[in-house]
Amino acid sequence: MTILVTGAAGFIGCNFVRLALENNYRVVVLDKLTYAGHRENLIGIEDNPHYLGLVEGDIENPTLVSNLLEKYSVNAIVNFAAESHVDRSIEDPGVFVRTNVFGTFNLLHCAELYWRKLTQQKNKFRFVQISTDEVFGSLGDEGKFSEQTPYKPNSPYSASKASGDHFVRAWYETYGLPTITTNCSNNYGPFQFPEKLIPHMIHCALSDMPLPVYGNGKNVRDWIHVSDHCRGIMLALENGVPGETYCFGGNAEKTNLEVVHTICNTLNQLVPRADGRSYLDQITFVEDRKGHDWRYAIDDTKVEKSLGYKRKWNFEDGITSTIQWYLENKTWKDAVLKSKI
Ligand code: NAD
Repeated sequence: MTILVTGAAGFIGCNFVRLALENNYRVVVLDKLTYAGHRENLIGIEDNPHYLGLVEGDIENPTLVSNLLEKYSVNAIVNFAAESHVDRSIEDPGVFVRTNVFGTFNLLHCAELYWRKLTQQKNKFRFVQISTDEVFGSLGDEGKFSEQTPYKPNSPYSASKASGDHFVRAWYETYGLPTITTNCSNNYGPFQFPEKLIPHMIHCALSDMPLPVYGNGKNVRDWIHVSDHCRGIMLALENGVPGETYCFGGNAEKTNLEVVHTICNTLNQLVPRADGRSYLDQITFVEDRKGHDWRYAIDDTKVEKSLGYKRKWNFEDGITSTIQWYLENKTWKDAVLKSKI
């Protein structure tokens, strides 16, 4: 079985490709290599005979996408390609609409034309859309998001993802394309570009820079280890029901300040500062993000029951192992930071 994995030179996609190869899938990657996409993220898999390579290109390009589907006789598309950073969406929303809305539409359109012509394995074809819990908007102090929660996006990023997801749903309802959508909470783990909270704070701490915390630091996010998320996506791909959506959470709600404290305390133990001070001293509070959602949390009862999904990581072990990974992969960090900004 061959999977076209889009956006797999990015954080979650490159972790998913490794899992797919371990599970003996053939994988071809399509990635535009934006500032967030890096060949370095796919290092170590080039010699795997099931890895069919990285094609540099845009999910908005119909000829390219259609040719790839035909050339590799693709059985499934897993769409990670996206503009993914909320702050950037506030500064420059247009590219989010192009990739997350128009790009998703183009993938669906090409997939449907290709799928319609299939004679074998037609009902096994899958289009898996990787989405976020941010499409549900913001929670107060109580309650959790689930598959039943209506979409109510607040940022240009989440609005563009929500729009892409609506097109996915429409392609299932209108054309019968076998689609599956997954919504996930905040991921952490290896290969995350150091602009997102956890790798950014690790990078700033080790570079003796201020650790910028938005507002009062009390906004809450639910953290999931990327390998748990990828195993969830694999379960959804293999056993999910077309037309359904699946929510994956980490059962690890933390305030942003708690996350930053955990990072500082772990670094204090693993790599104490030469001057004997704590990394906690580097924390600074900065102006809050515009429209900053207060809290996200996911109830993942459905995926536990229907897909047999179980998390392997708790936050404390996951964050320690993630920090160790960033300490051991400084060359990777330097390369991706230098490459395109
Ligand atoms: P990322 O920013 O690390 O990677 C995105 C990848 O998409 C990059 O490799 C980039 O080059 C590629 N890309 C961007 N525009 C493209 C285009 N037009 N054509 C082809 N490739 C393009 O993102 P990520 O954190 O790995 O997130 C992957 C997906 O998961 C996104 O759809 C995101 O919305 C979703 N998601 C992320 C999180 C998270 O915490 N990171 C949580 C939930 C859902």
